[in-house]
Amino acid sequence: MSDKTQRNKQITKGRYAESLDPTSADEVYDAEFEGIVRQTLVRIGDDPSREGLLRTPLRVAKAMDFLTSGYQMSVSEVVEGAIFNEDCTEMVVVRDIEFYSLCEHHMLPFFGRAHVGYLPNGRVVGLSKVARLVDVFARRLQVQERLTQQVADALMDNLAPHGVAVVMEASHTCMMMRGVQKQNSTTVTSAMRGSFADDARTRAEFVSFIRT
Ligand code: ZN
Repeated sequence: MSDKTQRNKQITKGRYAESLDPTSADEVYDAEFEGIVRQTLVRIGDDPSREGLLRTPLRVAKAMDFLTSGYQMSVSEVVEGAIFNEDCTEMVVVRDIEFYSLCEHHMLPFFGRAHVGYLPNGRVVGLSKVARLVDVFARRLQVQERLTQQVADALMDNLAPHGVAVVMEASHTCMMMRGVQKQNSTTVTSAMRGSFADDARTRAEFVSFIRT
């Protein structure tokens, strides 16, 4: 089996948690990717053959696969079997969902919290699935604005609620470590759909929930 075939096979199932497993000393995870990382190490002026860096290419390949595992995940897989008929009409809010993503401009991490609310229309989704849904889109190369909208749209499409609200607050290491070097700024983005976009009172109720 070629590296590529083996890699694709691994990607199809279980990549989500698999990347955290310990590995044996002589393991090759993805020869091509590891070669690129080795070249990168040389390019930045270090020596990939020194002891501390020997297994770095393998670790980087695994870490990158994990951090971008959202490409192998689909919203329908995540919510499958977790949508229930329920005549609840009150607002549901899941707040302070931790997320970690990579900015698509620098491939550097940005991370923070997501607050997700929706107004059910006969159907609710398991609460842990809301957090998983955030990961589906966060574990890709992203811009925070698009990430926020994708989470909102995925809930609208799969749950058909009266409305959805998503607010994300994040720190961007590409701003903190380079460029303007502003360590304390956070970026807040929001996406309002349905009743949250149309009705100021619904929006205000959501905001009061996430501020409490
Ligand atoms: Zn960036």
